[in-house]
Formats: sequence, C-alpha cells, structure tokens
Amino acid sequence: MELSGGLLPDPLRFTGLRSTRALIDLDVIENNVRIVRQSLTSGTNLIAVVKANGYGHGSVFVAKAALTAGASMLAVATVSEGVMLRRNGVRASILVLGPVDPSQLLAAIENSLTLTVNSISMAETINDLADESGRLTRVHLKIDTGMHRYGCAPADAATIATTISSMQHLLLEGVFTHFACADEADESTTLEQAARFDSCLAEIAGAGVDVPIRHAANSAATLRSRRYDYDAIRLGIALYGLAPSDDVDLLPGMKQALRLTSRIARLSELEPGDRVSYGGTYRAERAERVALIPCGYADGYRRSLSNAGWVAIGNVKLPIRGRVCMDQLTVGVPEGFEVSLLDEVTLIGNGDNAAPTATELAAQIGTINYEIGTSIAARVPRLYTKNGKVVGIEDLTGAVDLSLTAQQQRGR
Ligand SMILES: *Cc1c(COP(=O)(O)O)cnc(C)c1O
Repeated sequence: MELSGGLLPDPLRFTGLRSTRALIDLDVIENNVRIVRQSLTSGTNLIAVVKANGYGHGSVFVAKAALTAGASMLAVATVSEGVMLRRNGVRASILVLGPVDPSQLLAAIENSLTLTVNSISMAETINDLADESGRLTRVHLKIDTGMHRYGCAPADAATIATTISSMQHLLLEGVFTHFACADEADESTTLEQAARFDSCLAEIAGAGVDVPIRHAANSAATLRSRRYDYDAIRLGIALYGLAPSDDVDLLPGMKQALRLTSRIARLSELEPGDRVSYGGTYRAERAERVALIPCGYADGYRRSLSNAGWVAIGNVKLPIRGRVCMDQLTVGVPEGFEVSLLDEVTLIGNGDNAAPTATELAAQIGTINYEIGTSIAARVPRLYTKNGKVVGIEDLTGAVDLSLTAQQQRGR
C-alpha cells in the first residue's frame, strides 16, 4: 500500500515504513460502532474500550474514530494509557477501568481522567489530591458481582456510594460491574450477576444517591441481549470487529479492522536436502523456491507457528518453512506460482484472502483473538486508512496524522 493523496509526510518526522505493517481500516471501526449503537436500547451510550493501545490497533486513531461514530466516552486500563490519549488531543471522558497505583493518582487527576474506585479509603485519597489540585474529579464505583477481580462487595456498595457523593471534590458519575462469563453459551451466571447489580443499584437509589451512568455490559453481553444495556455499554473486542468467542456472534455487517502484511525481502532456491532457519528443522524434499518475510516473533508473530503457519498472497497459501526467527521467517512458494521481490503477503487477514483471520490464528496457537492484536509489537508501524487512503501512521518514531500539514506536525 502506498501513501496517496494530499500532503507528503514531513521527512524530519517520517522515516519511511518497514515492509511489515498493521493496516487498520478506520471506516470499519466507525462502522462497527454505528452498527452496535443502532442495536442498543434508545438512550444507552457506547463507551469505546481502547486499553492496551486499542487492543494493539493503536489507541489514538481508534479512539478518534470511535468518537466520530458516536461513542460518548473512552475506557483504558491504566493511567498512562489515558495520559497518552490526552497528549494526542483526545478531550472526551476517559475512564480508567482498573486499580491505580497511588503514585499515578495525581497525574490522573491533572489529566482529567475518570477514576474507578472500590473503597472509601481510596475515594478519600483521591478527594484529598483533587482538593490540592483544585479539580473536581469524576469517579465510578465498581461493584464485584461475582467475577472476584476488582470492585467492592455488593453489601458495601450503597454505603460507599453515599460516602463518595458527600465528598466535595469528587463527582460520583458512574457505577458499574463486569461479567465473568458473558461470552459463554450458558447465560445463567451473567443473569445472576446482573440481578446482583440491580439490587445494588436499587439500594444506592434507595439511599438517595443519583448516579447518572450505570453500566455492566462488555462486548459479549452487548451482542447477546438488551438485558444488560443500562445507561451505557463498554465495547472492547467487537469494536475491532472480532467476536468475543465462538458462542457469541458479531452483528451483520461488522468486520475485522486489522490486517498484518509484509513484503518479500528475498527469493531463493532450495536443493533437495537443504534445510531452513535455526536448527534446520525444515528439510526440502525436492527443489523448492522460498521467500523471506521480514517479520518474526519480536513483531508478535508466534514462534510456535514454525513449520505450521502460513501467509497468503490472494488465495494462495505459502507455508512457513523452518523456525520463525526473532525478525524474519521463511515461507515456501508453491510450484508454478509466480512471485517477485517486494510482493505483498498477508500474515493476518480479514477473511478476504487465504490468510488466517485473527480468530483463526488464535485458535491455531491456542489462545483467544484478544491476544492477537495485543501481541503485535510496538515496532510494527500502524497504518490507518479511510476510503482506502492512508490518513495516519504510528510507529516507534511517533504518530503522523496526514490530515495535518507538515508545519502543524512539527508544532505538535
Ligand atoms: C476489557 C474490559 C471491557 C471490554 O471487554 P470486551 O470483552 O473486549 O468487550 C469491559 N469492561 C472492563 C472492566 C474491561 O476490563
């Protein structure tokens, strides 16, 4: 894919691109958000979960696309993830979902991040810091309704909510819980957790505390039922066009946003008996053409795919020969198939060609599709497209938004 249209990127900031790239289609992200929003109960908002660098897709461009398509808030796991978004011009509400190290609370407050609390003592600490910085700080109370990860005990929820609502420098904006089994065929655990959440909400309301944003659903709960909508849902994996599990389908029209491609860096011929890569674990039975792909396990392409995975050019599969190295891997070129140097190969496809999709690749290496995107290393540049044109790039040298002029880029 070539850069096209508009302005050339500033060479002082833009170093060119290595052959291995993650391509993220922002139209697909926007479309996924719109399709899910249309399915929600009227009045229910969509919180776009862009933690872990947007599940590996790059949080800045994904966050902006999700907001464009109508997401009302963003969610991250850590303070640094939120601060990074602020530094890149994101002004929307950002909820930090997880526990926060006390050393990061001040930065969170000063960057107007919304914090999740689960105890009165934590709320007090935040209230004191908010007082010192002179900033009203929004917090959401998390209730542990059965996952036994983060959150307060359901029996304590109303007391904590009441206490927080009396703190001068905190705004109790939200209350939420998280489902442990929403992606399983059997919905009973999720229904039980929701019932517990409902009781807590009733107690909080009974105590006279009004909390405007009550939320529970992740992607799986959102995709399977309207039971869990409340005031907002938190959309993570489905935002990226990936189904939460084999038991929960995406809605019609939703699509995988990411592809991982590279280009052939060397073509060579094996004689019968020649071996390939570390340990010589692949031995050519007959004369065979092989192609070198500059992508390896340090890019997030698993070493366990040695002699097992494949890449694709169109509908043709090129099987991996020998071990996947840190920075490179070798594939066999099927007899009679014409390839040239710099031809594009797809390592992770979106179903449009013979490359495995993120979900298929995950199954092959014994993990879930969540781990495919999050494993793609920082040194793999992310290219963002809209209407088929590259509109932004993010790599180790920084983010380049091609919609800004070179002068604006330097000034950022
Ligand atoms: C990650 C996360 C989500 C998003 O989950 P998906 O399954 O990716 O939709 C929602 N809520 C919390 C608390 C999370 O940690």
